Amino acid sequence: MQEIWVVAETNQGRLAPVTLELVGKARALAEAAGAAVTVVLAGHPVAGLAAELIASGADTVLVADHAELASYRTLPYAEVLAGLIRARRPSIVLFGATSQGRDLAPRLAARLRTGLTADCLDLSLDKDGLLVQTKPSYGDNVMVDIVIPEHRPQMATVRPHVFPQPEKNAARRGRIEEVGVSLDSAALCTRVREVLAEVQPASKLEEAEVVVAGGRGMGSKENFALLYQLARALGGVVGATRPPVDEGWIDAAYQIGQSGKTIAPKLYIACGISGAVQHTVGMEKAKLVVAINKDAGAPIFNFATYGIVGDVREVIPALLAQLNARK
Ligand code: FAD
Repeated sequence: MQEIWVVAETNQGRLAPVTLELVGKARALAEAAGAAVTVVLAGHPVAGLAAELIASGADTVLVADHAELASYRTLPYAEVLAGLIRARRPSIVLFGATSQGRDLAPRLAARLRTGLTADCLDLSLDKDGLLVQTKPSYGDNVMVDIVIPEHRPQMATVRPHVFPQPEKNAARRGRIEEVGVSLDSAALCTRVREVLAEVQPASKLEEAEVVVAGGRGMGSKENFALLYQLARALGGVVGATRPPVDEGWIDAAYQIGQSGKTIAPKLYIACGISGAVQHTVGMEKAKLVVAINKDAGAPIFNFATYGIVGDVREVIPALLAQLNARK
C-alpha cells in the first residue's frame, strides 16, 4: 500500500503544531488515495507522544528513540531518516517548513537523489496520484504547482499554519513500532553543549494567540518599543511587514507574509501597515483584526474587524493606558 510519511518535530517534549497539521493533511490525502499515514517520531525521550499522533490520524508511528537524537542535529537525524526511507520506500515524505525541516529535508533529498519542493502552501493529488505541491515562485509573484513524476519519495516542506490541526480521536487505533537506532557518536561531527532560550523565539510568532505587527508607518526602530509594550500587555508577540525588516528595525524571522511567516492568531493588531497583498496573505487567517492607520483609505481596513484611524504614536499609548488602567 502507498504510504504518506510525516517527519515529526518536537519542541520541549511536545509535538510541534505543524506536525499535527501535516498529519491531518496526510490523513485527508491518504483517504483520497487509499494510502496509509506513517509518522516518524525521532528524539529522546519521545515514545510518550506516539498516542497523540495516532489520535490525530496516523496509522503507524515509527519511534526512533536514542540519546543522540535528544536535540536536533543534521547528521544523526539525516542518518536515521535516510535509513528508514531506503528500507521502507514511502511514496511521499512531508516536513514542516521550520528551521529543522528546512535543514533536514534538502539533506535527505540529496542523499536519496529525489526531488524536494520547499515552502509549500498547499498539497493535493492529481488524477495519477502524484503529489501536487503548490508554492509561491518567481520572486513570490506567482503560485506554481510542482510534481515529482519519476523520483521517489516525493518530498515537500510545508509552512506552519496553512492547514488546520485535526480533531483528536482518542479511540483511533494505530500501530506504534520502535525502530532500532544505531549511530556512531564519533562520526556525528557536532555536539549540543547547551540550549539557550531566545528572548522572543521566532517560532513563538507562528504559535502566538496575539500578534502585534508593525509596518513602515511605525516610523523608526525606537517606535517599535511601543509594539513590544503592547504585545507584553496582551501576552502576545511582535511581528512586522517587510519594510521594517529591510530597515533593520526587526529581524527577518518576524516578517509576516508571502516571503515571511504565515500566522493564524486569535487577535492581530496591524500598526502602520497598509495591507499589501504580500503581507495580508500571511495574516488573513487571523480571527480578529484590529488595524491602526492614519489613512482611512488604507486597504488593511478591508481585513479589519475594528479599524482605528489615527497616528500609531498616539493610539498605541492610549491603548496601553486603557490596558494598564484595567489591570
Ligand atoms: P507601506 O505600504 O509603506 O504602508 C505604511 C502604512 O503606514 C500606510 O498605510 C500609512 O498610511 C501608514 N502610516 C504611516 N505613518 C503612520 C502613522 N504615524 N500612524 C499610523 N499609520 C501610519 N511585505 C510583507 O509585509 N511581507 C512579505 O512577506 C512580503 N513579501 C514580498 C515579496 C515580494 C516578491 C514583493 C515584491 C514584496 C513583498 N512584500 C512583503 C512587500 C509588500 O509588497 C509591501 O511593500 C509591504 O507589505 C508594505 O509594508 P507596510 O504596510 O509596512 O508599508
